Amino acid sequence: VVYLDYNASAPLRPEALEAIVAALSSVGNASSMHHPGRDAAARVDLARRQLADLLNCSPGEIIFTSGATEANNLALRAGYARGGVLVTSAVEHPAVLEAARAVTAEHPASLVVLPVDGDGTVDLDPLHEVLRYREVALVSLMIANNETGVLTDLMPVIKAAHDAGALVHTDATQYVGRLPLDLNEVDVDLLSLSAHKFGGPQGVGALFVRRGTPLPHRPILVGGGHERGWRAGTLNVAGIAGLGAAAEAARLQLAQEVDRTTALRDTLEAALTAEVADCRINGARVGRLPGVTSITFPGVPADAVLATMPQVAASDGSACSSGAPSPSHVLLAMGHSREDADSTVRFSLGYATTTRDVERAAETAVNAVRHVRSMMAAPAE
Ligand code: PMP
Repeated sequence: VVYLDYNASAPLRPEALEAIVAALSSVGNASSMHHPGRDAAARVDLARRQLADLLNCSPGEIIFTSGATEANNLALRAGYARGGVLVTSAVEHPAVLEAARAVTAEHPASLVVLPVDGDGTVDLDPLHEVLRYREVALVSLMIANNETGVLTDLMPVIKAAHDAGALVHTDATQYVGRLPLDLNEVDVDLLSLSAHKFGGPQGVGALFVRRGTPLPHRPILVGGGHERGWRAGTLNVAGIAGLGAAAEAARLQLAQEVDRTTALRDTLEAALTAEVADCRINGARVGRLPGVTSITFPGVPADAVLATMPQVAASDGSACSSGAPSPSHVLLAMGHSREDADSTVRFSLGYATTTRDVERAAETAVNAVRHVRSMMAAPAE
């Protein structure tokens, strides 16, 4: 199988596997004072440093969680508890959108959802309006979209929000380890990430909370006071060690991988657009993640295309959550019809993708689209 679904989950990096096995092979609770406990704590400390190095932040600003879903929920709970309005966008991952709806459930008017244009870029005019006329607690905008790869320029958002006394959270799950991020420059207050999108294991992630951020304490899990009281429970040492090792590997390869995956993605897009004349690349006119392409094949249902090419692992618009068969809210927000949203395939590549993979995927996908089209054109018996 040619695996082109890195946005759903990237393959585990060998460095991460090694760190996980080493951690699992040693016993000890990272909170215990004896030698095995100290050994576990050392693995967690190392991982915290490795992640901090990737983000250029301080290790003390990282809270380990079970993934980006939990990090997003934590960020929105605490951010909203400051008092004021919560602002987010229509193209966020459900882990932000649903969490935003949940925390504002008793005051739905306290939630403002910004629209996007046809390229998937967030419209900032309504953001400036809200910041001017209402007290905003938190602005939460993803830095890269999981379905289209479309990037958000956070700098003007951060400036406007901070000028108005609001905090900024970003869901950087698809961005971390794929494009350089320097938290010294990008002055967000909160950031969520998940290890399995950059070659770490599933079920572990982190929330970055900038030192000094005026944030009420709103843990979801209470108990032992771990992670500075933000997340109780014995640490997932093996998962955290895997996250750290993956972060380090991603950091070391980042510069060359950006160019390499961009070139592979461009090759894939060129091959598909050359052979399927009427296909459309979503977000093509704006900045996107290197390894992601979202392509609409009008009139050709994506699920049929994917079923026709089992040797290529890609996804239809919305798959990365529960697999529920509803049209992608991201593509609908970008102005696609339901039919076009259902005719969109996402290919996402990454560190282990080869030129041969891309060539095979392109050829297979072109044949699959042609096949589905010919089946649909055939007269019914
Ligand atoms: N945010 C974004 C943008 C994502 O792509 C994902 C994963 N699909 C998540 C959050 C949730 O990550 P996890 O399932 O690892 O908690």
